[in-house]
Amino acid sequence: MKATVVPNRNAIFTSILYGYALSVAAEEDTDVEIALGVHSGDHAIYPDCRPEFYESLSQAFSLGNWDSDRISLKLPYIDSNKEAILRDSLNSCKLLGLDFDTVFANTNTSYNPDSLGRSSGTSGADVERILAFHAIGRMDPVEYVDNWEQVLEGALKAELRYQVMKMNGTERPFTGDYDKHFENGIYNCAECGKELFLSESKFDSGCGWPAFSKESTEAEIIQLTDNSHGMRRIEVRCSGCDSHLGHLFHESSGPRYCINSICLDFEEG
Ligand SMILES: [Zn+2]
Repeated sequence: MKATVVPNRNAIFTSILYGYALSVAAEEDTDVEIALGVHSGDHAIYPDCRPEFYESLSQAFSLGNWDSDRISLKLPYIDSNKEAILRDSLNSCKLLGLDFDTVFANTNTSYNPDSLGRSSGTSGADVERILAFHAIGRMDPVEYVDNWEQVLEGALKAELRYQVMKMNGTERPFTGDYDKHFENGIYNCAECGKELFLSESKFDSGCGWPAFSKESTEAEIIQLTDNSHGMRRIEVRCSGCDSHLGHLFHESSGPRYCINSICLDFEEG
């Protein structure tokens, strides 16, 4: 998601709006409220979406301008996520007599659309948007490069990958693409591409997750003691990007790397 951060973006937008609001206040002799749709979301990584940033910005603007007491900044969604914004939009459209789909067909989330203005639906901002539409039980009315089913499937996968690799989650057993997958090739880290396992070491453990008897000599997988869930286990993490992968068990038959399928990308060969 860090790849979607635009340097100093919200300071620039707010600054333009503040200047405009000051001229409206002067011309029309009125107070002006600026409503910004910034939100911290479920993954609070954007520093310019934090309340303390707007408090400081607001103070700086008021110090630097006459008549700043006529201008106020409102941040109605600062503690919300995109789903909450969409739910509020449904109500607002009803109140204002607007067509929800028409309004949202004219919005743009992608930072990198194709020549027709369509998004691939794979950036962090897009994934959040797609999952928000899914959460309210509607299709996103904007056109993506792929159809809605494919775009939604990709977004659900991206969210699961985030939950497993960055939040130490576990995918449901018997659901991963590589659980019953025995082609010849290499299994790389889905996040950074580092080589982790070779197909020769893969076996069917019956536990519902991909199992490997040893790691690739290149992998240098990190092993950590994990005392969560009342068990003493060895957690394994990618040495390339420090993402959670799964656990390592030492059994009578030998080592078993029990890896979440969503953490792996398979390369034939
Ligand atoms: Zn990695």
